[in-house]
Amino acid sequence: MSEATLETHSFQAEIKQLLDLVVHSLYTDREIFLRELISNASDSMEKLRHLQGTEKDIHDAALPLEIHVTTDKEAKTLTIADHGIGMTRGELVENLGTIAHSGTKAFLTAMKDSGNSPANMIGQFGVGFYAAFMVAEKVEVFSRSWRAEGEELLWTSDGVSGYSIEDASGLQRGVKIVLHLKEEHVEYAEESRVKHLIERYSNFVGFPIHLNGERINQVEALWLKNKSDVTEEEYKAFYEFACHAYDAPSYRLHFSADAPITINALVFVPNENMERWGMNKTEPAVALYCKKVLIDPSPKGLLPDWMRFLKGVIDSADIPLNISRETMQDSALVRKLGSVISKRVVKMFEKEAEADPEKFQAFYKKFDRFFKEGVAMDHANKDGLAKLLRFESSMTEEGKLASFADYLTRAKDGQDKIYYLVGASRAQLETSPYVEAFKARGLEVVYFTDAVDEYVVETLGEFEGKKLVSISHAGVELDDSESAGEALGAEETEKLCAFLKEELGEKVTAVASGKRLVDSPVIALVPQDGMTSQMRRMMKAMDENFKDEVKVELEINPRHPLVKKLAETSGSNPELAKLVASQLLDNALIAAGLLDDARDTVKRMNALMERAMG
Ligand code: ADP
Repeated sequence: MSEATLETHSFQAEIKQLLDLVVHSLYTDREIFLRELISNASDSMEKLRHLQGTEKDIHDAALPLEIHVTTDKEAKTLTIADHGIGMTRGELVENLGTIAHSGTKAFLTAMKDSGNSPANMIGQFGVGFYAAFMVAEKVEVFSRSWRAEGEELLWTSDGVSGYSIEDASGLQRGVKIVLHLKEEHVEYAEESRVKHLIERYSNFVGFPIHLNGERINQVEALWLKNKSDVTEEEYKAFYEFACHAYDAPSYRLHFSADAPITINALVFVPNENMERWGMNKTEPAVALYCKKVLIDPSPKGLLPDWMRFLKGVIDSADIPLNISRETMQDSALVRKLGSVISKRVVKMFEKEAEADPEKFQAFYKKFDRFFKEGVAMDHANKDGLAKLLRFESSMTEEGKLASFADYLTRAKDGQDKIYYLVGASRAQLETSPYVEAFKARGLEVVYFTDAVDEYVVETLGEFEGKKLVSISHAGVELDDSESAGEALGAEETEKLCAFLKEELGEKVTAVASGKRLVDSPVIALVPQDGMTSQMRRMMKAMDENFKDEVKVELEINPRHPLVKKLAETSGSNPELAKLVASQLLDNALIAAGLLDDARDTVKRMNALMERAMG
């Protein structure tokens, strides 16, 4: 350790922030540091085991893949050593001095804002190693890479501002981490305490763990065991360790199959959706194994993208061990595997939703975007996913969600459509003139209030053969209702429609008398192929120069006093009738959220008020 080899580095700003948080905010769960370090050691040996299949020239090839933990009460140290892939000088700088995850900043802010316990999130963002500084005042990392040309190195840091790297000697392949414990945490230099922790957190790590020379864990791949032989405790420990998670999973799917391919899968559904906290897109976290050997911890394209919130393990003995990550997506076998598992996942959600609707509703509120994304992108599971969609409607209490299946149980005899309306909020939709005719007839209207909903329902098109129909569009046929009040005669109605069409000209595609309205005089309907207000808003958001001419079909309510009066006035005072006609159209456009420019409206309104006051 000559001084000449010593290089000092300072931490990236984000690391400093992270260290500060880790050291000062995590009071209760300090002990997880050991789980994090053992997990890194285990990951590193998994990588080595994988390299053994492809690389000939591995340094210290004969070393056993084991983890050795040693405690030294006198020296107040705890040491964790592995024979994994180790790190080169460049990797030490890259892995332990910078945060590769660009989401880390967002993580730090989200954590400050949300009041969430960092303990729930640590580990999910690759902050694992830094947990060592919760208990240590100095951390030494001895490292020798698997690469033939690797150096023997020592990385040292007090976890405050930076670290140094110097040459070391006498090292074998892998990483040895020495924690110099803080005075208040010397308990972690006690064998019994550490033993207890390993048993608790790392019992089924896929490699032997020795503590002071004694083997303490049972090596087992939980996912290969029979469901009935696994305890809840073991599942919990597996989820925490292998999935780097701290929450209690919402759901779990553990199954095996022999045909069409051999599969052993253990998949968890987390309780929290990290993307909701402004994180980057979640990386797939269902690892792919072949007979207990890790092939890819984050396989892209194995499961449909929308399932990226799942965590766990899929093991298939049929997958060739040396399959490369690049060719994986092209493999018919991998596609088959993904398809079988994704179907099981969708089925699992369906069953769970049925068994405990309340629980599913709470879960759905956090994860709805994934399901909607699935409907839009995952053609193979579209029908299954449609059963999982939840929404409020004109017949649900506020905040309570229903499914399309619920809707159909309430549908009228012979009703062959599912009616919906898209808008900004439940309150807005409830008072919308579109809804009134449906309410009057006891027909349920689904309320879609999420920006992506319109696109989702349009992709869906139908549910179990029932067409999904937007009630803001023209062409929705309704039965006669027993609305009160005498209607305008047929001939007069026709005349009034003709007058309005003539007067409003290009602004309307047609004017017709209809049965939808109860309390409103007129309503603006979007033509079958026209854009709804929601869609226009989206187009405008994407392109500030977006302009399209709004053309609507105007439906009049022949029972409404204003309409009846207008029919009269169109003969007696055409000039006033023209003003009223234009104003009625604008009012309808406002109610539909389709009026872009209100300047003429205001002028006309003023003129009308002047007249009204004589
Ligand atoms: P994560 O493990 O979530 O990526 P960590 O902060 O725990 O984040 O570790 C950062 C990186 O340091 C790891 O991704 C890995 O590349 C490297 N590393 C940590 N521990 C070891 C080890 N025992 N052997 C080899 N590499 C390691």
